[in-house]
Amino acid sequence: MDLYEKYGNFQRGVFKRRFGSWNNALNEAGLKILKRNNIPETELIDDLKRVAQKIGRKTFSMDLYENNGQFSRGIYKRRFGSWNNALSKAGFQIYKKMGTYNRMDANDEELFSNIAMVWEKLGKQPTQANLDSNISKFHSSKYKRRFGTYNNALIAFVKWAESGGKENIEIPNLKTEIFINESDKGHKTRRDINWRLRFLTMRRDNFKCKYCGRSPATDPLIILHVDHIKAWTNGGETILENLQTLCSKCNTGKSNL
Ligand SMILES: [Zn+2]
Repeated sequence: MDLYEKYGNFQRGVFKRRFGSWNNALNEAGLKILKRNNIPETELIDDLKRVAQKIGRKTFSMDLYENNGQFSRGIYKRRFGSWNNALSKAGFQIYKKMGTYNRMDANDEELFSNIAMVWEKLGKQPTQANLDSNISKFHSSKYKRRFGTYNNALIAFVKWAESGGKENIEIPNLKTEIFINESDKGHKTRRDINWRLRFLTMRRDNFKCKYCGRSPATDPLIILHVDHIKAWTNGGETILENLQTLCSKCNTGKSNL
């Protein structure tokens, strides 16, 4: 990435925002993932600190790190023995696995996206017992503390989902716009489908596959995907109107061209 920035036209941040990481960007471009060996320990620790500051947390999971950090989880495991050793070395708290660690700083966005995820897995509105099962990241008591009752939490969740989930428009930024125009056929939206849009699409489609009609509500083995009707690579946008619910089987069978 340093080498790219020396000779390329855009800032590294543009690639990270668009592709999640530099290696994802290389991947999309069909280039080999760059394996840097012997990254100094201080650089690894500094990146943990940078991510902590960015997300405002004293501890975090490897998943959350990977979404925001520069390096892969594997590097930390190899260099420090474990994720928690790496966190300790950087002066952070031990991270406990989801569900067992009673995090006080889970924000509403996280609480809501968890409901969306559980709802999606079940294909129907989750009960309190569903939230207390291992498919949920957070226990229902967490929702009660925040919203008073479980029912209030569901009401707040639906409001959240309906408030502006129709499109995920790119944040205006000169450099990003140049990038979109030159490489993305003038897309107005990102390719990624956020939790709100996923939920709204599935709810509109009654949590059923648009092709075969199957739903996890009646068949727990069914996994639902949200799919671009007009493929993103063909200029289709990430908007509710261009999204549909498909089961994993039908989605795999669908040609992207
Ligand atoms: Zn299907």
